[in-house]
Amino acid sequence: MQAVRLTEWGREPALAEVERPVPRGSEVLVRVEAAGLCQSDVHVVDAAEGALPYRPPFTLGHEVAGRVAALGPDADTDTDTGTGGTAPGERVVIYGPWGCGNCTRCAAGRDNYCDHRGDLGWHGAGLGRDGGMAEYLLVPSARHLVPIGDLPATQAAPLSDAGLTSYHALAGVRHALGEGSAALVIGVGGLGHLAVQMVRATTPGRVLAVDIREEAVDLALRSGAHLGVPMGADTARVLRAETGGVGVDAVLDFVGNEATFALAVQLLRPGGELAVVGSGGGRLTVRKPGFLPAGFRLSLPFWGTRPELAEVIALARAGSLHVETEQFPLSAAPEAFGRLRRGQVRGRAVLLPD
Ligand code: NAD
Ligand code: ZN
Ligand code: ZN
Repeated sequence: MQAVRLTEWGREPALAEVERPVPRGSEVLVRVEAAGLCQSDVHVVDAAEGALPYRPPFTLGHEVAGRVAALGPDADTDTDTGTGGTAPGERVVIYGPWGCGNCTRCAAGRDNYCDHRGDLGWHGAGLGRDGGMAEYLLVPSARHLVPIGDLPATQAAPLSDAGLTSYHALAGVRHALGEGSAALVIGVGGLGHLAVQMVRATTPGRVLAVDIREEAVDLALRSGAHLGVPMGADTARVLRAETGGVGVDAVLDFVGNEATFALAVQLLRPGGELAVVGSGGGRLTVRKPGFLPAGFRLSLPFWGTRPELAEVIALARAGSLHVETEQFPLSAAPEAFGRLRRGQVRGRAVLLPD
């Protein structure tokens, strides 16, 4: 089968012919219908030797939806227990942050915070383990599958990371977003445009958004932001004025560089929440006494939980989330990577097996 392989750090991923896997034990084989392309894939390709706890070669793709094709002899087939049992032909999205499967975190569907995350030797599907930019994906256990019914795979796949990560980041700050509050979303790409929709769908707060790209600011407005502004010298002033001078209650930062940290701490209200999702390499210095807002709280969310993925899929099926996608055949993966690198993707790039 065709697969998009990372063969060496720093080398652009390329298509290769690999063996179609056979499910053993509790494994499940999924025929891939769609696989999203994340800015994290670019970070992974560009990673320095030793920077990540895994190494090539492996197949990329950590946002995947498809149809169950075959089950290993010990796979969970009990679909009534809500623990992920499945059957051939079922349409599913893959919960990607595979953990050890044995600790209390994994037992609760919180593989993203598996107690053994530091020594697993992978971060999840397509992140050290073969992922879903391929015709088939081998999933270690049926507990990583969430049914999607008739939701299109091109919607479901991005929801498993761009959607889930945004949802989990928002879950950590939602308590700050009551009546009369305001949230700021920085970086309105694959994750950010869904974050804007989720703040609108699940809080009464106003949503402000910034991006360096004009078309991403437009996407923020189409996604429901009350105000979208380009990132520039005047941005903090414009946004503060928009909040009646008080600042915002929460910032969701999907960039994470020095400039976005500076904007976030300038705009946060006392008691404000900053969730840093983007891996932009920025540093933020904590010093007391200092200039961070009083009561400032910081979170560094990673991906999300399996129960949250089910909630995200339910929101999408209810019509509250719409992923803006640009679709490419799997064979055009190198071109899609190039577009993402050049900042030319609107929303999420999604690969479809040819
Ligand atoms: P994306 O490329 O689709 O979107 C990023 C957006 O940020 C783009 O619209 C870009 O124009 C904008 N941007 C870039 N620099 C900016 C700046 N200085 N100021 C304002 N806007 C700026 O990326 P994505 O796939 O949505 O991922 C966003 C980030 O989140 C990446 O760093 C990615 O690695 C990270 N990520 C983290 C997790 C996690 O679990 N923590 C999961 C997925 C992705
Ligand atoms: Zn990702
Ligand atoms: Zn675990």
